[in-house]
Amino acid sequence: MKVLADNIKNAMSESSFIRRMFEAGLEMKHKFGADNVYDFSLGNPDAPPPPAVKNSLYQVAENSGKQFAFGYMPNAGYPESRAAVAGSLSREQQFEVPPSHVVLTVGAAGAINVFFRATLEPGDEVICPAPYFVEYKFYASNYGGVLKPVPAKDFTFELDVTAIEKALTPRTKAILINSPNNPTGQIYNRAELEALASVMRRHMEKTGNVLYLISDEPYRALNFDGVEVPPLFGLYPYTVIVGSYSKTLSLAGARIGYLAVCPNMPDAMELINGTVMTNRILGFVNAPAIAQKLLTGLINEQIDLNIYRERRDEMAKVLTDAGIEFTMPKGALYFFPKSPVPDETVFIDALMKEHILGVPGKGFGYPGYFRLAFCVPMSSIKNSAAGFKRAVRAVKSQL
Ligand code: PLP
Repeated sequence: MKVLADNIKNAMSESSFIRRMFEAGLEMKHKFGADNVYDFSLGNPDAPPPPAVKNSLYQVAENSGKQFAFGYMPNAGYPESRAAVAGSLSREQQFEVPPSHVVLTVGAAGAINVFFRATLEPGDEVICPAPYFVEYKFYASNYGGVLKPVPAKDFTFELDVTAIEKALTPRTKAILINSPNNPTGQIYNRAELEALASVMRRHMEKTGNVLYLISDEPYRALNFDGVEVPPLFGLYPYTVIVGSYSKTLSLAGARIGYLAVCPNMPDAMELINGTVMTNRILGFVNAPAIAQKLLTGLINEQIDLNIYRERRDEMAKVLTDAGIEFTMPKGALYFFPKSPVPDETVFIDALMKEHILGVPGKGFGYPGYFRLAFCVPMSSIKNSAAGFKRAVRAVKSQL
């Protein structure tokens, strides 16, 4: 009997490598003990939330007896929470963002789904640089859209704007970028983004169709060297920024994020009203009430960046000592090094023999590389050093 829709069955088998890694990790931890397995496969932010979270939670509790304390609300969120996010975005974007242009969502993941549901027609294309966050493909196909990955520049993972321009068609509805990037840790600079914006403007003039720029920014605050994460609202009017507090405040399970529409966008209110509608009819209804209230008191807080910065620096040492090549991640929580042998799955298998878990690049649409998440204890990074060296020696001796 047919239990599942075909496209969900396909999605499950396509992403089975993630499940396999996860299951292999559990089995190894059971067999060898958690301290003897170096699991760099999961991007689960593990820095503690800032101390202010506790106070904010107390305040939410203080008011919890009031009528409608956690009742239904406008689908876009509490006005004071929208205003808090709008204030913070106005500073980031160096652009006045009114609360009316912010919709609170169930994480950045919810925001992307809400946006795609509101804008994609079946067959519409969404371009994104590869490697890319695996879920994008599913988010686009949820609404009949087609993700069209375009490789970034090899090894440095800068935007290849010429390749993106070539991939544009009259069906392209959006370009989805993510900076700081998962899985590469790269941050696009102003020149790359200006070049992208001018290609997009030209395409809109040529086709007469709207072409959205979606900037997925859940890692915005995870910027270790203080480089500029350029504001986009002043650059291109058809910009939508999505973000969340999953990494900034280590509140991934609280599921709180947002979508913000550029105030310069013609018809901005129509798009906002459309996303408020889709937030409702996708069954999210509104972003979680407790998380919204919590956030309002925490908008200027963030986790201690040093925790991740020190781990990034240690991981860089471990990889360099093992002779593994990589471009230093400027932000996010990941390294995306080059595999020492062309088939990265061979190297991933060699790492597994050393109880080290990483994810093959083909899972991110970019074979020949692999991803390591450094949101793990410092001891795991340090203690994995000898295993990385042995794995490199093992695969190179087979060449
Ligand atoms: N976008 C990227 C690039 C991510 O890596 C993630 C989560 O890991 C998300 C979106 C979803 O994050 P959220 O928890 O805000 O839904």
